[in-house]
Amino acid sequence: MIKLAHPVIDDDEKAAVIAALESGQLAQGPRVAAFERAFAAYCGAGHAVAVNSGTAALHLALVAHGIGAGDEVIVPAFSFAATATAVLHAGARPVFADVCDDDFGIDPASAERAITPATRAIIAVHLYGQACRIAEVEALCGPGRITLIEDAAQAVGATAGERRCGSIGTAAFSFYATKNLQTGEGGMITTGDAAVAERARMLRSQGERARYVTEEAGYNFRMTEVAAALGATQLPKIGARNDRRSANAARLTARLEGNPRIVVPREMAGRRHVWHQYTLRVPAGGEARDALQAGLRERGIESAVFYPAPIHRQPLYRRLGYAGVSLPVAERLAGEVLSIPVHPSLSDADVDAVAAAVNDLAR
Ligand SMILES: *Cc1c(COP(=O)(O)O)cnc(C)c1O
Repeated sequence: MIKLAHPVIDDDEKAAVIAALESGQLAQGPRVAAFERAFAAYCGAGHAVAVNSGTAALHLALVAHGIGAGDEVIVPAFSFAATATAVLHAGARPVFADVCDDDFGIDPASAERAITPATRAIIAVHLYGQACRIAEVEALCGPGRITLIEDAAQAVGATAGERRCGSIGTAAFSFYATKNLQTGEGGMITTGDAAVAERARMLRSQGERARYVTEEAGYNFRMTEVAAALGATQLPKIGARNDRRSANAARLTARLEGNPRIVVPREMAGRRHVWHQYTLRVPAGGEARDALQAGLRERGIESAVFYPAPIHRQPLYRRLGYAGVSLPVAERLAGEVLSIPVHPSLSDADVDAVAAAVNDLAR
């Protein structure tokens, strides 16, 4: 079986976990603080606040910016569900924007049309490991007007121009088991705003700055020392692991780009793609895409559809009154996309087998 994701845990990562277990401190402690410092430096962000999931990072980023009841937050309709549920958990209202079919990110023109006097933030998702049109979204936000939140859950190490994802707005990362950097569960907020970082630190641990002094209704979003040990040990290797993903992606593209039945993913000019996923499109649509996936499965190759429905078409949002929302690109992409293996543990022979199977099935 050629899997879609495979965690890479080296001997020194195992040793770091054992050391954390033997340190006498299992929950948020010195390893979490060290991981935060290293991660902020890696992203080129002023501050980093570790949490226990990417979902918690998104939720806390919104709350730390003071976004809540009565506010609207613009989110792309084609993303992981948590991008939008974080807005609901913050007490605000998600307003969906359409996406672009070349980089799968938010369409700045659609985002602009969604702006109202109640808009407080835009969440820009760097889907599949490539930055979205973030400079255009940043321009829409303007200084001090609308808060820019990057959902960088899939984009550790990706760049947009000279800047790393996570250093542009306030950002949320995920270190879930299948992400490029993997701690099992885990997440991080990065921000250039010291006050937001301080508020996020307070809210992450019961709304306390000093022990047992409750200032606000906080959460328990703390990271464990074990997760931080894994993350900090992996961070120096993420460049090499992302390079291996890039090499696998280039090898896939070289073998697939002549196939008229599929559209291969593009690395956009001036952006470093970190290939969290290698996502094809099958323009013939749902049935042809599903047949390709079934054929791959028969040949022992795992693939996945991220995501089979746009967020506004999920039962929750129908119930919340979004049934009339129409976002044609997001709706079309949900029927066309298929992610195939690109992870760093694949051999060249694995990559060749994946490409050969796709070409053989999509003829
Ligand atoms: C994984 C992911 C999240 C949520 O992260 P968790 O760690 O699973 O909570 C949010 N947004 C996107 C785009 C993701 O891929």
